[in-house]
Amino acid sequence: MSNSASNQSSTVQFRHFIDGSFCDSSDNRTFLKRNPADNRIVGHVAEGGRSEIDRAVQASRTALEGPWGKMSVEERSALLYKVADEITRRFDDFVAAEMADTGQPKSMMEHAFIPRGAANFKIFADVVKNVPNESFQTPTPDGAGALNYAIRVPKGVVGVICPWNAPLLLMTWKVAPALACGNTVIVKPSEETPGTATLLGEVMSAVGIPDGVYNVVHGFGKDSAGELLTQHPGVDAITFTGETRTGAAIMKAGADLIRDVSFELGGKNAGVIFADCDFDAAVDSAVRSVFLNCGQVCLGTERLYVERPIFDRFVAALKDRAETLKPGHPEAKTTTLGPLISQEHRNKVLSYYEKARQEGATVVTGGGVPKLEGELAEGAWVEPTIWTGLPETAAVVTEEIFGPCCHIAPFDSEEEVIRRANATEYGLSTTIWTKDLSRAHRVAAKIDVGITWVNSWFLRDLRTPFGGSKQSGIGREGGVHSLEFYTELRNICVKL
Ligand code: NAD
Repeated sequence: MSNSASNQSSTVQFRHFIDGSFCDSSDNRTFLKRNPADNRIVGHVAEGGRSEIDRAVQASRTALEGPWGKMSVEERSALLYKVADEITRRFDDFVAAEMADTGQPKSMMEHAFIPRGAANFKIFADVVKNVPNESFQTPTPDGAGALNYAIRVPKGVVGVICPWNAPLLLMTWKVAPALACGNTVIVKPSEETPGTATLLGEVMSAVGIPDGVYNVVHGFGKDSAGELLTQHPGVDAITFTGETRTGAAIMKAGADLIRDVSFELGGKNAGVIFADCDFDAAVDSAVRSVFLNCGQVCLGTERLYVERPIFDRFVAALKDRAETLKPGHPEAKTTTLGPLISQEHRNKVLSYYEKARQEGATVVTGGGVPKLEGELAEGAWVEPTIWTGLPETAAVVTEEIFGPCCHIAPFDSEEEVIRRANATEYGLSTTIWTKDLSRAHRVAAKIDVGITWVNSWFLRDLRTPFGGSKQSGIGREGGVHSLEFYTELRNICVKL
C-alpha cells in the first residue's frame, strides 16, 4: 500500500501532494474515478479548490527560495536521474496505476508510456547541462567596448495542466524540463487520470526532491482547481496539454497577468499515401496511427488521403486489419484495443458515428458498439470505424473526434492533396508515405504542421522541437526548445 493511496473500505483514496506531504481537501470533498474498461470504481479522488491551490502556490514559492533554488545544475540533474531510476524501480506500480485509470492494454503501458515517463527525466537532466550561451563584444565610442552576455534563470512557479490520454508521459514531458531548469511545479492532472501523478509524489519524496518543488492538486477544470491555477497571480507560467477550446479559456483566464503559456492542443491530422509507397508498411503504420490507444493520441490520424490507383486496395487492407483488433481486458495478452476514457467521451465519439451516417458516409467497418461479456460489458467501448465517401466539409472530416476512426478519401495530384491536408484549422502533425524522396521533401515543406513523418509515424527523438501550428498549439517543447519556455533570459552588459 502506498502513502498516497490509502485503502479504506476497499476504495483507494487519491490525495493531493502539497509541500512534500499527501493531504485531503480542506473541505474533504472527493469525486469518484472509474476504470473505463469495466466501469468499476478505482477510487475516490480529493477535489481541490482555492485553499489547495493557495497552499500549493505558497509551498512552491517558498521552495524556490530554499535548497532547490540554491542547487547547482549538476545537483538537480543528478536528482532527476534518481527520479527516472525510481520510476523504473516501481515500474509495475506505475503500469498498474495507468492501466486502472485508462483501461488501456498493459503491453502499451509497459513498452511505451511508462518507459517514456522515466526517459523524459533523463533527457532533460542531460539537456540542461549543455545550455547554449551567447555573448557579444560590443563597440563603444571610447574604444574600450562592452561585453554583453545572457544568463538563464528559472521562470519560477510553473502550473502544469494535463490531459488523460497518456498521463505520465505527457505530464513528465513538462515536469521534467521545468524541474531541470530550476522551477517548481504545481500539477493539475486530468480528473480522469489521478494515479500516476500521485505516485510521482512518492517518487519525489523517496529520492530527496525538496518539499514544495513538485505539487499535485487534483480536481476539475472550469470553476475548479484547473481554472484557479490559471488565475493565480503567484504562478509565473502555465504549460498546458489538452483541447484547443480549453487552451483559449486558459489564455483568457490569465490574460490580465501577462504570463507565458506553452500550449499543446488538438489536431485533425492527415495521412498522405502515394501510390508508390511501401504498401504493407503504410497499412501497418495507418493501423497504429488511427487505432493506437483507441484513437486517443493527439498525433493520431483521423483523415487519410490515398492516391487513386491504390485507394480501393488500401481501404480493403485497413478494413481487414481494423476487424482483427481485439478489445478486451487490459491484462490479457490478446487485447489489442482498449476502451475510450469515459462514458462521456464515448457519447461524444458515438455522436460522430451518427453524424457520419447522417451525412451520407459509407461505413466501411464499425460504426457501433462491440458486445463484451461479463465484467467488461459496462466499459466505454466503441468499434474501430472507417468511413469513405464524405465531402471535405463533413463534421467527421473537419472536427477532432479523438476516437478509433478515420475517413479515407482518394486524391489525384500532389497539389490537390497538399491543399486538402492543409484545409483545417489545426496543424499538429502529418504522415507522408512515398518512395520518391524528392516528393517527400517537397510535400513535407508545404504542409502546415509542427511535425511531419515520412515513411513512419510516432518516431520521436526527444531533442527535436515538438508542438503544433495554427490552432494546435503555441510554442515548441523538446530538447533545448523546452529551455526557451522554462527559463527567462537575462542580458547583462558590462562596460569594459
Ligand atoms: P481537456 O482540455 O478537456 O482537459 C485537459 C486538462 O485541462 C484537464 O486537466 C482539465 O481538467 C483541464 N481543464 C479543463 N478546463 C479547464 C479550464 N477552464 N481551466 C483550466 N484547466 C481546465 O483535454 P482532454 O480531453 O483531457 O485531452 C484531450 C485533448 O488533448 C485532445 O484535444 C488532444 O488532441 C489534446 N492533446 C494534445 C496533445 C499535443 O501534444 N498537442 C497531446 C495530448 C492531448
